[in-house]
Amino acid sequence: MLGEQEAREAIVTTGRRLYERHILASIEGNMSIRLDGDRILATPSGLNKGFMREGDLVVTDLDGKAEGGGRPSSEMPMHLAIYREREDIEAIVHAHPTAATGYAVAGRNLPAAVLAEIVTTLGCIPIARYGTPSTDELAESVIDPIKSYDALLLGNHGALTAGTSLEQAEERMYQLEHFAQISLVAELLGGPKTFSLAEVEQLSALREKAGGRPVPPACYPVDISQETITLTKDELIALVTDAVRTLR
Ligand code: 13P
Ligand code: ZN
Repeated sequence: MLGEQEAREAIVTTGRRLYERHILASIEGNMSIRLDGDRILATPSGLNKGFMREGDLVVTDLDGKAEGGGRPSSEMPMHLAIYREREDIEAIVHAHPTAATGYAVAGRNLPAAVLAEIVTTLGCIPIARYGTPSTDELAESVIDPIKSYDALLLGNHGALTAGTSLEQAEERMYQLEHFAQISLVAELLGGPKTFSLAEVEQLSALREKAGGRPVPPACYPVDISQETITLTKDELIALVTDAVRTLR
């Protein structure tokens, strides 16, 4: 766990990098780090996060009450809900990167079971249902998915990553956006080709060997936790097309 001064420096540096890499623009996005004693260091609300100074950051308690002056991020309810739900999480990054947010706005799932680097790290990336920004509705929408995933799309809003350090949460945001861009290119080239069940099982074994949790059932080509599966016509066509492609 970082000391408060180190944490302030880390958030300012990360904000600058996220801005320079076009992961956030204008006043978008926010970050936080868990400090000792269940205190949370957060970005201020309404500022460009690429140009913050260490003194702009705000410390709150786990109920969002700010120490001293300053107005913490309007998305504190969402950050705090995650810290309360996952004791292993030490830092959170929320941003609106172009391709990932495009998927979130279109209500399109990023493909599951298509890239080993994603399956063995993030598993897959679900979309949390839309909630009005800054409200408890948004906070509630992330509670369920964050139990099993470290990276989420936020419906009609953006993306969120969590980690055991700010570096990890930041890196996961780049990874998520990179994957969204790859997925978009794959869509243009006829659609991504999904791994088989056995291939995902092998990747899950690799992930567990490296100390990770098993790949969540929903990240398999079909959700293996379900007894029955319902497919739309488009999904059925995609499945048959994939099967034919594999056999050829
Ligand atoms: P804040 O500046 O209040 O953190 O808001 C930015 C944002 O992305 C809201 O969802
Ligand atoms: Zn936002």
